[in-house]
Amino acid sequence: PDLIRFQNLSKVYGSGNTEVKALWQVSMAIAPGEYCSIMGPSGSGKSTAMNMIGCLDRPSSGEYFFDGQDVGQLGEADLALIRNRKIGFVFQQFHLLPQLTALDNVSLPMVYAGISSAVRNERAAEALTQVGLGQRLHNRPNQLSGGQQQRVAIARAIVNQPLLILADEPTGALDTQTTKDVMAIFEQLNAEGITVVMVTHEPEVAQLTHRVIWFRDGQVLNDHMSPEDMRQT
Ligand code: ADP
Ligand code: ADP
Repeated sequence: PDLIRFQNLSKVYGSGNTEVKALWQVSMAIAPGEYCSIMGPSGSGKSTAMNMIGCLDRPSSGEYFFDGQDVGQLGEADLALIRNRKIGFVFQQFHLLPQLTALDNVSLPMVYAGISSAVRNERAAEALTQVGLGQRLHNRPNQLSGGQQQRVAIARAIVNQPLLILADEPTGALDTQTTKDVMAIFEQLNAEGITVVMVTHEPEVAQLTHRVIWFRDGQVLNDHMSPEDMRQT
């Protein structure tokens, strides 16, 4: 069974003259345990695909199955539950709350999941230790480097033990060395069994994942793209 399955999926914005086929009749699947990146030029449908995968949006036509559930048939409350329990989101700009410590930032998704504060603190500390920040629990974001802040964000993404980490340009704000550190964390989490899907513009980053899906004009132009193909684009 696939974790992610697009079946003849289209996402169309607007209508008539202003109609945009952001995704057009896309069929693809990602199995549990995969480590993928999504690439493609600006306007090719990457953000739309990420919004779809992350259950932030529903298809215009065709089907999206996440963990066996037909997302197009679910209401907002069910989509919100999937996003909170089954998906961990990581962003380019970290999106940490500046007034909260690392521990409290990582605890937040568990507040929404209704977990007691003692258990929250314990699990948040564990998640931060998992990303190498066991000594930084009580630091605020402005007391941490960019790479450390992204690791806090990754800890927040994994704290509810999701099936999927969905990362949008996770290394876009990081330097070369920090990018390697953050990619090593994704590699480690994937080795522990979490499915990881990221959008990136950086071929050096995409090459560290195990499968590169290349979008163009709202369609998958190349799945399992090789490093040679990437150098030619
Ligand atoms: P990418 O992330 O690869 O840059 P997007 O998924 O953002 O591509 O966009 C794909 C196409 O859909 C583009 O032509 C974009 O302008 C259009 N598009 C994306 N979101 C919207 C929207 N909310 N309303 C109208 N058009 C949109
Ligand atoms: P990204 O850099 O992630 O591709 P964009 O800057 O393309 O993001 O888009 C930012 C937001 O605006 C996204 O949520 C996208 O869905 C939306 N958007 C993109 N193109 C359009 C458009 N032509 N009309 C309306 N909204 C759009």
